[in-house]
Amino acid sequence: MVKSLHPPRLPLEVLQDFLLDRYGLTAAWQPLEGERDQNHRLTVEGGRSCVFKLCNPEEGDAIIACQALLLEHIARSDVALPVPRLIRDRNGEALPVLPFDGLTYPVMLLSYLPGHVIGEADLPPAALRRLGEMLARLGVAMRGFIHGAPAGRRLVWDTQHAGDLADHVEGLLPEDRPLAREVLSTHRVLTVPKLAKLRSQIIHGDIHPYNTLMSDDATITGLIDFGDVVHAPLVQDLSNAVSDFLFPGRDHAATIYEMVRGYCRVAPLEEAETEVILDMIEVRLLMTALVESLKASMGISPQGYFGQFNSRAIPLIRELRAIDRDGLHATIRRAAAFPPAAAAARSGDILERRRQVMGQKPYVFYDPPLHLVRGEGIWLFDETGRRFMDCYNNVPCVGHCHPYVTEAIARQARKLNTNTRYLTDESIIYAERLIALSHDSLGAVVFVNSGSEANDLAWRMAKAWTGNRGGLAMEFAYHGVSEAIDAFSPSNAPASWNAPHIRLLAPPDDYRGPYRRGEPGLAEAYAAMADAPIASLQEAGFGLAAFMTDSAFMTNGILDVAPGYLQAVVDRVRAAGGLFIADEVQSGFGRMGTHFWGHRHHGVVPDFITIGKPAGNGYPVGAVITRHEILENFLRNGPFFSTFGGGNVACAAGIAVLDVVRDEGLVENARVTGDDFRDGLRGLMQRHGLIGDVRGVGLATGVELVRDRESREPAGRETSRLVNLLRDEGVLMGSEGRLGNIVKIRPPLVFSRENADFAVAAIDRALARL
Ligand code: PMP
Repeated sequence: MVKSLHPPRLPLEVLQDFLLDRYGLTAAWQPLEGERDQNHRLTVEGGRSCVFKLCNPEEGDAIIACQALLLEHIARSDVALPVPRLIRDRNGEALPVLPFDGLTYPVMLLSYLPGHVIGEADLPPAALRRLGEMLARLGVAMRGFIHGAPAGRRLVWDTQHAGDLADHVEGLLPEDRPLAREVLSTHRVLTVPKLAKLRSQIIHGDIHPYNTLMSDDATITGLIDFGDVVHAPLVQDLSNAVSDFLFPGRDHAATIYEMVRGYCRVAPLEEAETEVILDMIEVRLLMTALVESLKASMGISPQGYFGQFNSRAIPLIRELRAIDRDGLHATIRRAAAFPPAAAAARSGDILERRRQVMGQKPYVFYDPPLHLVRGEGIWLFDETGRRFMDCYNNVPCVGHCHPYVTEAIARQARKLNTNTRYLTDESIIYAERLIALSHDSLGAVVFVNSGSEANDLAWRMAKAWTGNRGGLAMEFAYHGVSEAIDAFSPSNAPASWNAPHIRLLAPPDDYRGPYRRGEPGLAEAYAAMADAPIASLQEAGFGLAAFMTDSAFMTNGILDVAPGYLQAVVDRVRAAGGLFIADEVQSGFGRMGTHFWGHRHHGVVPDFITIGKPAGNGYPVGAVITRHEILENFLRNGPFFSTFGGGNVACAAGIAVLDVVRDEGLVENARVTGDDFRDGLRGLMQRHGLIGDVRGVGLATGVELVRDRESREPAGRETSRLVNLLRDEGVLMGSEGRLGNIVKIRPPLVFSRENADFAVAAIDRALARL
């Protein structure tokens, strides 16, 4: 397991002749310390420095060749990484061989890296972080390198095989042995099985303070000595290095934090990797003590700095153990940007805790409420691990936690997150993408953070453009929370709604309204209902600044709107001097299946498109898309700026969502799956008299429940019971409409036919239990 640790000692003249013969160089020679190889620093003509490395043949040809290939690989994959560059000889050979005394010695000529070894220098936090970054870059640079030799070797220094040194615990001081046994046993029982599942590759294996060079300004200038390359878990390079940069009496938590944090800034760790770091640090420390004990058993006395360095190991383990273990784990998770690993509270507790801090009247779905801890695609998971099919949420339009979107968010968050008062690529790209999806007349974008803000801003722009102050909204509409938009949202407080400058328009409800499905002239009949409220605004002196509606008519019960209706209303609005705000918070991003925007489904060109909810798949993203002249007119009175609106991360999320909607064909999926879904639901009408109507477009479906199909008596209580029963069935839906008797089905757009069949079967069962 351990070879002779004595480096070769060939006469200098032999080496000098070899250098001249193979490399055509003469140089001034200066010996360098080396544990296994005979190393010299050369100063060649012109003052350039190199390292002449006469390799110890006992290492074996394969591993030496591997090192040479690896250095060349790194030179290709990360040109700026400060590792030695291999200089080939005059014949183009990477590893010429020097025969001497019956043995053959491979030679490497390497570039000399400036700086001094870090040794015991107490590094400031920024330097530790840079060291972590370097390690991560090294790991990334070596990722694509493959060679059989490192996998086949079993080095004493290979932390994953710490158990090989178990016999040498006996060589430690008696008082240290129990601690050593405990560290080894934890490693064997708990850590080794985890290591088997981690990302593995060829790693450096031995980044320590004497293999790491630094300049006077604390820049890392060199990572040297690739003699310990092994095939091992990637995180081992980090845990080894962290362990070796701990020194007694220093702030260990800070060292660990900074190095892990630096590492993760370049290459994020996987959660499972963070779990082994602490054990691997301890094991590495222990190994330095055990290798000393092994060497002593072989009669090798401590050399150079090693004896001193290694003697710090056991005291350090004790210092680490004196620190709160959970706290150290939490430090590592924090450094790696994972949330605290808190055990999930049970629902009972959490409801009470919520009341304590978020108000006594929790506004939550279901009774008892759902305590969710995870989401994936169309599935949500509660604290017991039970999964629920999400047929309700339109925010995660491309599916909960879609990896393409979460990665885009994380990547951008690591890179830059600032605001639009600087020129930023992401905001421009996102604006261009939104404009490309919109009518040619809509060429300007303003970023905000939510649907409410987008509507609020559109409303301000509409007032500025028209000079009018009155607004038109649908009865029972919802458009947001700001004071101005609350006035457009009678559903917020149906009984007390009062906004003198807003008029409400009866919804074009062809199931329950005054004009019914199948009647001729339906669109015009409902549109004509806008005449009176518009006239009333004029009479009151407000005039009409804007009409705002949601193309899916979601809060009105997800209506099947007669073709031509919306255009006929908008014509009336424009004739009165008003603008049309298409609130696409619900209907946009393909929800309606026929087009990307809901207003296109109605064949209307709006003056404003406002977006929110699905735009960032859960990351706050909002925007107003409008005509240039409307924006310029608005800005005449002063600039508009929203700190987070259009931030790099928000835009990265927005761009990623657009990519997924396009690449996964989600508009088309909404159409096909939605139609199938409604067919399935209509199929239930034969068995369940409670279903009065099934309607909607794309993946926006309303199922209206009635106690009697003739009288259409609304079944509000039954709807709320059904929704709770469906929750028991593992399917999440909501109720909607002024009468609360419409089952709202609005799943993520990645919903499949199989999902639809599952949901239909669940409704069938739940209705049977009602
Ligand atoms: N408009 C519509 C049609 C909405 O459904 C909503 C939110 N449900 C909003 C605006 C408000 O969006 P936010 O909650 O992001 O402010």
